[in-house]
Amino acid sequence: MLGIPSLGRSEDELFAELDEIRSNDLDTKGGRTWAYVYDAGRGAELFRLAERAYLSFLHENALDPTVFPSLLKLENDVVAMAASHLRAGDGVVGNFTTGGTESIMMALKAGRDFAAETRGITSPQIVLPVTAHAAFHKAAHYFGIDVVTTPVDTMTWKADVDAMARAITPDTIMLVGSAVSYAHGVVDPIPEIAALAHDNNLLCHVDGCIGGFILPYFRQLGAPVTDFDFAVPGVTSMSMDLHKYAYTPKGASVVLYRDAAVRRHQLFACAGWTGYTVINTTFQSTKSGGALAAAWTVMNHLGQDGYTDIAERTLAATRAIISGIDDIDDLTVMGTPEANLIALSSDTVNVFEVVDEMRDLQWYVQPQLGFKGSRENIHLSVSGASLPLVPHLLEDFRSAIAIAKPKGPSVADPALVELLESIDPATLDDDSFAQLLAAGGLGGDDGEIEVPDKTSGISAILNSCPAPLAERLLVEFFNRLYVPTD
Ligand SMILES: *Cc1c(COP(=O)(O)O)cnc(C)c1O
Repeated sequence: MLGIPSLGRSEDELFAELDEIRSNDLDTKGGRTWAYVYDAGRGAELFRLAERAYLSFLHENALDPTVFPSLLKLENDVVAMAASHLRAGDGVVGNFTTGGTESIMMALKAGRDFAAETRGITSPQIVLPVTAHAAFHKAAHYFGIDVVTTPVDTMTWKADVDAMARAITPDTIMLVGSAVSYAHGVVDPIPEIAALAHDNNLLCHVDGCIGGFILPYFRQLGAPVTDFDFAVPGVTSMSMDLHKYAYTPKGASVVLYRDAAVRRHQLFACAGWTGYTVINTTFQSTKSGGALAAAWTVMNHLGQDGYTDIAERTLAATRAIISGIDDIDDLTVMGTPEANLIALSSDTVNVFEVVDEMRDLQWYVQPQLGFKGSRENIHLSVSGASLPLVPHLLEDFRSAIAIAKPKGPSVADPALVELLESIDPATLDDDSFAQLLAAGGLGGDDGEIEVPDKTSGISAILNSCPAPLAERLLVEFFNRLYVPTD
């Protein structure tokens, strides 16, 4: 197993090696990567500004705002800017977190403990449309909360509020809506969900992780946007990422509460040990001030004028893609995107093959699996850098389809489906796992695991599996992937 080198190595040599290690990564800048990374389209200048701010606070420790008061000031500033953006009135409070997942986890933790205190609930449940982000399932899993999922309308992909009403039980603590949902980019009927929550004395969380920042600009630019923020009565908490469409470096999100009496349950203090007194707002204790300082700096630098300009180009790019896809017979936009996220499905071509062909043409577009009536599709997160690329993207979609189409429309191989149906996730053994990996092009006969260049094989397998089996396979895969270097 690799050890710490006996003699320290030089800076030049190490940075050369880091570049080499990174050579197969996706591009993070320039707009050819349509998920995971977000480029404002401001060129090197904005990246440099963010990096300067990040580095200047890299070594501060947000563990204790009494010794680093700068971080308290920056956090309260960023939370205020985020809350105003979401039309929050007086009394709204919140915290800076490392990402959407942490914001959502904090909201569920606070909601759980608030419901325990105020209503005596010991077996909490949340009602979650199937389009809500996986982070809610993760939070529920970590915090012992039961998830009750509800269907969505399969034309609009929006939450079915009647189904949510029927799912409420005496143990329900919270209803959830998305603004927008990641998969289809639509805003759930938030006013109706929030009213339902209010009438039943429940909390209502709106997940604005990806849509919350850009939607107010789209509204201002005249696009139709369903109301989703603190202006809606009954919304009790919100999550909004800054490291997506506020274009701040990764590790930046906010969680906001209408009422500090709920947020109080997010905080954790411990005086019952022999060391320093611990009082934490979020999961982490020791954490760098870099991401917070960078968020503060980027938000203040871009300002409403900068963000409006970026949103204008993003909206134009989104509309150009939607109308361009209209002319491509083999792809269909799912629902009516309200922000800048687009899902493309097909009856005539295997979308996972299209993803692979696009990769060969130097684009990353993201495969999404079929689930509960939402068939497998291709996801695009449009950014401020997208607009000039749209004609090329559309042209290359046509080329990719021309290559993928002869392989047929189906993603499922009948023999594979039969194999999958014979597997019980609870008793999956090494042999059947190895067989599946080979079928998905993920491993050699020697049991070595590799991340493949082409993902259509593995996507097809996961797409044909019931969710529990897919989850088991993914865990087994990662449990073999993360092993110490030889
Ligand atoms: C990205 C996203 C999240 C999770 O955020 P991370 O920053 O990746 O942890 C949650 N909800 C929605 C709608 C998202 O798009």
